[in-house]
Amino acid sequence: MMELKIQLIPTGEIILPPGKNGENFCHNCKVVASDGVRAMMESALTARDRVGVQDFVLLENYTSEAAFIENLRKRFKENLIYTYIGSVLVSVNPYKDLEIYTKNHMERYRGVNFYEVSPHIYAVADNSYRSMRTEGKDQCILISGESGAGKTEASKKILQYYAITCPASEQVQTVKDRLLQSNPVLEAFGNAKTLRNDNSSRFGKYMDIQFDFKGAPVGGHIINYLLEKSRVVHQNHGERNFHIFYQLIEGGEEDLLRRLGLERSPLQYQYLVKCLIRSVFINCIYVIKALRISDSHNSYFPFSVFCYGGEEGSACITSDTQIKYLARLLGVNGSVLTEALTHKKIIAKGEELMSPLNLEQASSARDALSKAVYGRTFTWLVNKINASLAYTDDSHKHYSVIGLLDIYGFEVFQHNSFEQFCINYCNEKLQQLFIELTLKSEQEEYEAEGITWEPVQYFNNKIICDLVEEKFKGIISILDEECLRPGDASDFTFLEKLEDTVGGHPHFVTHKLADGKTRKVMGREEFRLLHYAGEVNYNVNGFLDKNNDLLFRNLKEVMVMSENNILTQCFDREELSDKKRPDTAATQFKASLAKLMEILMSKEPSYVRCIKPNDSKQAGRFDEVLIRHQVKYLGLMENLRVRRAGFAYRRRYEVFLQRYKSLCPDTWPNWQGKLADGVSTLVKHLGYKPEEYKLGRSKIFIRFPKTLFATEDALET
Ligand code: ATP
Ligand code: MG
Repeated sequence: MMELKIQLIPTGEIILPPGKNGENFCHNCKVVASDGVRAMMESALTARDRVGVQDFVLLENYTSEAAFIENLRKRFKENLIYTYIGSVLVSVNPYKDLEIYTKNHMERYRGVNFYEVSPHIYAVADNSYRSMRTEGKDQCILISGESGAGKTEASKKILQYYAITCPASEQVQTVKDRLLQSNPVLEAFGNAKTLRNDNSSRFGKYMDIQFDFKGAPVGGHIINYLLEKSRVVHQNHGERNFHIFYQLIEGGEEDLLRRLGLERSPLQYQYLVKCLIRSVFINCIYVIKALRISDSHNSYFPFSVFCYGGEEGSACITSDTQIKYLARLLGVNGSVLTEALTHKKIIAKGEELMSPLNLEQASSARDALSKAVYGRTFTWLVNKINASLAYTDDSHKHYSVIGLLDIYGFEVFQHNSFEQFCINYCNEKLQQLFIELTLKSEQEEYEAEGITWEPVQYFNNKIICDLVEEKFKGIISILDEECLRPGDASDFTFLEKLEDTVGGHPHFVTHKLADGKTRKVMGREEFRLLHYAGEVNYNVNGFLDKNNDLLFRNLKEVMVMSENNILTQCFDREELSDKKRPDTAATQFKASLAKLMEILMSKEPSYVRCIKPNDSKQAGRFDEVLIRHQVKYLGLMENLRVRRAGFAYRRRYEVFLQRYKSLCPDTWPNWQGKLADGVSTLVKHLGYKPEEYKLGRSKIFIRFPKTLFATEDALET
């Protein structure tokens, strides 16, 4: 009798054997089901068409984007938000709570191979954990996708999975708690409501989870990337400042607010907009400490009266009380601060002079100070969290690591600026890493199995990375050059220089055509990059300022004199004595990305690709146009093509034999000889043609899904 095991999951998903729904394998299968359940199973069993395949490599027409999207749609309709491309997990944000993250689910995925259970974020988490334990190799899980696609939620689910399923002592429990608690604190300071996501991460995050030799989490370390500091001083219509301000104003205790000189209503503050979501104040020591010095909520007091200075005249601060408040909170001298906020130090004929600022200049000095204080406090906060997560037990120095990368996906807006340029550059780097590592691992597997590697055609985006980052000739170098050049350097001279230097590059376009005419569809202030994921026009306005990210020297001088013990850690005296200019924002970002690539390269990667199903944050709405864009930006079709280039399906001999041995009298009930011979006997008996499969050292490779489906169907008859 043929035995078949079917698992039922509360959401209604039925884990089907490969013939109907992908490549689930179960050993010693047995159907155990009530009549009602059986009816449900039967309807599902006749419905490969209804739920689609759970691994895209099993799509017959794997080069068709339409077939890809149709498969996603079918699964999404059935609340099956996860699908694989080989070992890459594709996840579609359901925008509703699915009952698939319970402890029971965690148990189901624990220690189980990918193909034995339906696709899930826990399978990825578990697989990385097991590889780390058994192969002793550090792992990383790279989560990508556009804003609102579910990256942060995915990373939290992974963290929860480890917190619950990994072994723990009392000490480990503290570490687990801290790992979990670091999230809300960082989110309070680093997340904000945007048009795309009510809880959008405005920084990139890489987190190492460290495990001891028993596999228990014993520490962690976070690296933050490119916080969107400009949000502190400006938010687009419909968006908000960072959560923490609203949490504090709405939920802070009276006494704390009094001490900080704050009012309850966000409308009081120039930097804040009315908040519509009630926030919960997190009474956390870091938060309280940090709030004492984060200055934006105080900015209102001295700065709102700047208008007294008028456009042409010199800006002045008219309210003594308010500047005193701010000076006290920042731990600096009030009159020195006043002068620094309204004057700029210049050196004329060898003498230092204080030149008054006009209203506009003073406003931008204020904004620069706010951004600097907030940005540096954020980094300070990350350092504090790191100190509390640090693995300190000297007796077990050796530990293994699983890194989680939750970083901004490719961005294409109506108006793209310096920030999108950096973010998209980051995505080019990650894509390059992906290509290198995926192809490398495919190639290595073929080699290890003794199967001839068939070269795969793919687009290598190194050419675009070089265009951005190459020394002397790359866009960042040219931007830096303009930032450092005294005189008439501006955003437009930067654009001109780009045209002169990289104008002929195949991935760079401006409005100028080679014959001297202009390309009408492009603005004169724009350049276009042909990214691996598509074209993006960048407006150069503000590039120099954002890249310089300068704080006037006299404001820096005030801040390094601060007596506030947090600010003294944020503004180092060295900064003043250092003759060399600090690195520009783009150069710092480039260096931090290079380090990130090094970290990731040293680990074994897994990938989670998140997709946002619609722009209205609605459950159940599958917006095909939007999804098609993301499939493109995430490079999923190319990913599938590479994965399918050789063989659609591969499985270890023992697993293959176990599943199909009943189909051949020579292998049933047990094959006694070598596993490879057993598989060979079995597939010959099944009539596999030589071009349909290859036998490696430990695995069988099957070229087409239909071969496998036919075998599966044979199993069911
Ligand atoms: P950003 O780049 O803006 O930070 P993101 O990719 O990190 O975006 P998330 O904050 O993870 O996006 O997700 C946005 C929202 O979508 C969440 O607040 C949650 O409401 C919903 N969501 C995401 N993933 C899931 C899930 N697996 N189940 C239920 N809801 C989800
Ligand atoms: Mg996020």
